[in-house]
Amino acid sequence: MEPYNRKVWACPPAMMNSGWVGDRVATTDLNRVLRNLVLQQDDVSWGPNSTFQFPKRGGTGAIWQACASQLDPGRLHFGKKVTRVDLEGRRVFTADGYEYSYCHLVSTLPLLELISLSGRTDLQPLADRGLLYSKTNVVGLGLRGRPRSDLATKCWMYFPEDDCPFYRATVFSNYSPFNVPDISRYWSLMFEVSESPYKFVDHQSLQEDVIAGALKTRLIEDRSDIVSIWHHHSNFGYPIPSLHRDEALAEIIPLFEKYDVYSRGRFGMWKYEVSNQDHSFMQGVEAVERVHNGRQEITAFDPNYVNAKKHPWPFERWN
Ligand SMILES: Cc1cc2nc3c(=O)[nH]c(=O)nc-3n(C[C@H](O)[C@H](O)[C@H](O)COP(=O)(O)OP(=O)(O)OC[C@H]3O[C@@H](n4cnc5c(N)ncnc54)[C@H](O)[C@@H]3O)c2cc1C
Repeated sequence: MEPYNRKVWACPPAMMNSGWVGDRVATTDLNRVLRNLVLQQDDVSWGPNSTFQFPKRGGTGAIWQACASQLDPGRLHFGKKVTRVDLEGRRVFTADGYEYSYCHLVSTLPLLELISLSGRTDLQPLADRGLLYSKTNVVGLGLRGRPRSDLATKCWMYFPEDDCPFYRATVFSNYSPFNVPDISRYWSLMFEVSESPYKFVDHQSLQEDVIAGALKTRLIEDRSDIVSIWHHHSNFGYPIPSLHRDEALAEIIPLFEKYDVYSRGRFGMWKYEVSNQDHSFMQGVEAVERVHNGRQEITAFDPNYVNAKKHPWPFERWN
């Protein structure tokens, strides 16, 4: 597991805690593994995400566009950069000169940014010690033809070896035929490459390195099949469950709450184990329920409870 974890997290595993594993990592059933080995059969239906849903059109963003369309558009302001949060005065300032006042603020800014934008430099040493993160590079390849028969049934695959820069490859065209212009003529792959001060990535050569890795691992047979390449770099990729994360969060999160600022979401709460989209969404729902109805927040504070379920719905605890 060591090479794989190093590659995914871009962090020496010795710097990580193990508490996040809980129900996030599927437990193997040794008898089942042995039986499959003896019978030489693939086992495709174990683990928490062996089935999942994905929008037919519009990719993952379609879910959130559909949610946003339920709201009053006059109250949605996109593309604005927050430049300062005034905790005492309960105001948020944006780069275009606007100023917003609030009673309660649910912030999904990366917690490190919230600390610096609110001028709480006293929290910086705690944050530097506990709030580690990786960056992510996503490279997409549009390909001519059809995937090989063994790839035609795959969603995503992991690559712990060092013969390719990516730790995961997704056959994105398998998620929906509408993810490519014409499914009878094209297919697509998406690769993820992690990056951090512990794991250097050369952005100049990244696309070429990914293609070389895809050829070496036989995900693609011929580079002339590639019809398009796409690269997205995300400064905040994975919040790392580091050894000192929980002690940092135990001080920082309540401090902001004293000022009615609820830092939630993937990098707002900095908890990998509850930072997928369903988790992040529920963190927001529950923060609002807490403010309005005094209900207990569960997803952000009891990850093992929510991850033991198929979906993190805490409603039975609210009754
Ligand atoms: C490689 C990768 C693969 C993933 N795969 C899956 C998956 O298969 N399934 C799944 O459920 N989840 C997946 N996720 C996680 C998913 O992306 C997150 O759960 C989701 O984006 C969290 O939403 P959020 O609103 O909490 O945070 P974010 O989406 O990170 O939103 C925070 C926003 O704050 C903005 N921001 C930062 N600074 C400022 C500023 N100063 N002013 C204004 N705005 C600012 C950022 O631009 C960003 O848009 C994946 C993530 C990565 C990186």
